[in-house]
Amino acid sequence: MTATRPGATDLSGAFVYTWDLVGDPGAAERIAALGVGSVVLQAAYHSARAMTPYHPVHRTVHATHSAAYFPFDPDPWHGTRLRPPAPGWAVDVPDRFGTAATALRGQGLRVEAWLVLTHGTALGEQAPDLTVRNAFDEQYGYALCPAQPEVAEYATQLVGSFCARYDTAEVPTLMLEACGWLGFEHGSHHEKTAGADLTRAARDLLSVCLCPACRAGIAAAGADPEGLAQAVRRTVDTELRGGARVPGTLHEALGDQTAGALLRHRQSVIEQLTRNVAAVAPGRELLLMADGDPGATGPDVGLDLGRFQGRADALVLKCWDDEHRSVARIQAAVRATDRPVIANVSVLEEHPARVAGRVARLLDAGAHQIRYYHAGLASPARLQALRRADAYAREAARAARTTKGAA
Ligand SMILES: [Zn+2]
Repeated sequence: MTATRPGATDLSGAFVYTWDLVGDPGAAERIAALGVGSVVLQAAYHSARAMTPYHPVHRTVHATHSAAYFPFDPDPWHGTRLRPPAPGWAVDVPDRFGTAATALRGQGLRVEAWLVLTHGTALGEQAPDLTVRNAFDEQYGYALCPAQPEVAEYATQLVGSFCARYDTAEVPTLMLEACGWLGFEHGSHHEKTAGADLTRAARDLLSVCLCPACRAGIAAAGADPEGLAQAVRRTVDTELRGGARVPGTLHEALGDQTAGALLRHRQSVIEQLTRNVAAVAPGRELLLMADGDPGATGPDVGLDLGRFQGRADALVLKCWDDEHRSVARIQAAVRATDRPVIANVSVLEEHPARVAGRVARLLDAGAHQIRYYHAGLASPARLQALRRADAYAREAARAARTTKGAA
């Protein structure tokens, strides 16, 4: 029986992992006490090593590979090469997502499924030909290329299997992460790449996928993929070995025609992937983690937001960096698109004393909602900052409604 919690709001949510909840009978109530109305709950996720400060049994969890945290019918996966592995470190409770979601709903919280689509080293090792391939013909095993039909089918089937398991009333919203290309940045703690001092532009160039599917897509969009590969190699080497800095954007580094074709190819693949996902998730709200820089790659897919023709009910923009940049990002997104814009705020990155101020300024900049990262990983001081920020946000929203009502 689900009760509506007084003060619950659609304004905000917090990210959590299933391992923050499963085996901890007090976790859902503790998360509800943060004040948020929604919880973005891990459903399919890449490898991670995480602190679990509040769990009664464990203090750390090591998820050694990407996994689906829900059981699924194997039939639709018959004959496919890519299939989400089960979490071998968490076999005690097979339906971890469902168990955690039930506890959260019991506290009146709305459950959003957090689905990571193209990031998974175990999958990349199974099918290296489906991974991102840079201009030097080197593969990024952690990154599946979404232009590959088998990868698009995998991502779509993953969402379809999830939706077959939980109905829309249980899980009305899906949060899509890595619904496009992961590039050069891996974000792994074992990375040994920082000392080369690569500029953002050089990283963007090393993020260009030139696998056979992307070569065909880039050619269809109007550029010569081999010429593009040569330009990337030449420019990256000039920086890596010569110490010269690559100019700022893909357009400057590659020329307008080539960069334009590359970005059109990417945008069209991402748009189609969101349509495929929407087709197997009828009636669900889709939140797309995105970056308003079309040249960006990563968990937040780079898009020309104003031209985006895919399916997304709202766009989720990461606001973890310098506050001025984050505010400018939200302002630009709100100008570019009519879709609601959600600010993803990290209480792990920001000083606790500054979280509420940041949230206030992001809401002023036009953010429609907030998602806080991360209710399971944060220290007590950071959780306190989340609570304060969210109380402020709810009060600001209430005041805005009152003002609107009076006008
Ligand atoms: Zn590719």
